[in-house]
Amino acid sequence: LEPVIGDLRKLLGDAAVLEPSAQYEQDATEGRGLRGRADAVVLPDTAQDVARALAWCYEHDVPVVPRGGGSGFAGGAVPVDGGVVLGTERLRAVRALDPLLWRATFEAGLPTAHVHRLARENGLYYPPDPGASEQSQLGGNVATNAGGPHAFLHGVTGHWITGLEVAVAPGELIHLGGQTRKDVAGYDLRSLLIGSEGTLGIVTAADVRLIPAPEAALPVVASYPDVAAGCAAVAAVYGSGLRAAALEYLDAVTMAAAGSDAGFTVIAEAQGDAETAARLRDALAEALGEGASALDTPEPEALWRWRGGVSIAVSAKRGGKVSEDIAVPVDRLREAIEATLEIGARHGLEACSWGHAGDGNLHSTFMVARDEADRARAAADDLHELAVRLGGTVTGEHGLGLLRSGELARQWPPRALDLHEAVKRAFDPKALLNPGKKAARC
Ligand SMILES: Cc1cc2nc3c(=O)[nH]c(=O)nc-3n(C[C@H](O)[C@H](O)[C@H](O)COP(=O)(O)OP(=O)(O)OC[C@H]3O[C@@H](n4cnc5c(N)ncnc54)[C@H](O)[C@@H]3O)c2cc1C
Repeated sequence: LEPVIGDLRKLLGDAAVLEPSAQYEQDATEGRGLRGRADAVVLPDTAQDVARALAWCYEHDVPVVPRGGGSGFAGGAVPVDGGVVLGTERLRAVRALDPLLWRATFEAGLPTAHVHRLARENGLYYPPDPGASEQSQLGGNVATNAGGPHAFLHGVTGHWITGLEVAVAPGELIHLGGQTRKDVAGYDLRSLLIGSEGTLGIVTAADVRLIPAPEAALPVVASYPDVAAGCAAVAAVYGSGLRAAALEYLDAVTMAAAGSDAGFTVIAEAQGDAETAARLRDALAEALGEGASALDTPEPEALWRWRGGVSIAVSAKRGGKVSEDIAVPVDRLREAIEATLEIGARHGLEACSWGHAGDGNLHSTFMVARDEADRARAAADDLHELAVRLGGTVTGEHGLGLLRSGELARQWPPRALDLHEAVKRAFDPKALLNPGKKAARC
């Protein structure tokens, strides 16, 4: 341990290298008992120093675990077995911001909420809005290709990234793409990095596409007597051709955990100039109205703040939770929601789900006390099997990370798994970048 810290301090300065501590050895999966062990924590304040740290690690065969805000739900930032945790929290510079050209270049450690704020202050909008936006960072969002409620209309993080600066093995800084909005010159290496969960390189900065901010965002909230009626309403919004910016659901158990007896709930949001948004909101209310037991049009800020607290309310119910994030084709949503409850019952666990209905993305959750972790893991296994059987995926937005590493073999054919492994070897021949994460096979 001492030589690692001593050598890295000589290379990067004392302030950039810390002794390992709990804060950097866990992430948002802490409640699932995931805790790793690091030899050192490195917090460079320049992209060049990220590359230098990676070069040192590569030369000395030391694993490197990239870390953003540690809000990940897959254990991706947890150092499995020693090595260097390389955090980007000091890389927060705004390298460029061109409001009139709808674009910016931000360093990777800028918190997601700051990206939102900077865009808003300049009359612009950066739509990706994963739930822990004060904690998560742009680099972490790129590395997980994070979604969020407004991904339904606007797409996930990758859709908003035109270029990436990345430190790649054996320790070099490269720029993939740039500020150009179209580019088909080579294989799309930038997209390979997006969602790669720290296993192919360390993102140090991103060129971001922005759009003019919508003048208004007007949500509608509707409640239903059961899952069938709620999912019929989701299908009705699709069928209406109305372009909701967000289309979310919370099942009755989730609502109860959040202190509401409203039952199965669907949220749709209209965006646009004030007049267009109001018209769209009314049309969405009409589409959602059939079969609804109640309809409301709350203030957007209050609604999304409340929605952001749901995960914590569900955790509080029994002291802990195992939350998965399967995604299925949207016409299989009802089956997946109902099966989540059945799987929970089969394993003797109270289950619930909420999520991004329009994207068929469920946060299927088992509420657990500490001694029920094994049963919850078995239930999660059944859930993954269900997702693949319904033509979906074991993870719609949180990633494979450590928790679901190897699970890809459930849903990809062997030849595709070989190619996945070949990509990893090409970027990281010594397998030092985030070992144990996002493996194709167990
Ligand atoms: C309350 C709550 C709500 C959430 N809601 C959503 C949601 O709606 N949608 C959603 O998609 N996610 C959601 N998440 C999950 C999480 O916020 C996202 O996965 C987020 O993108 C992680 O960013 P981070 O900076 O915290 O990354 P970390 O947790 O630090 O890391 C995540 C992964 O990315 C890698 N990584 C981090 N930074 C870099 C980098 N610079 N270069 C290369 N690799 C890197 C890590 O090695 C790790 O594998 C939620 C989490 C919480 C706690």
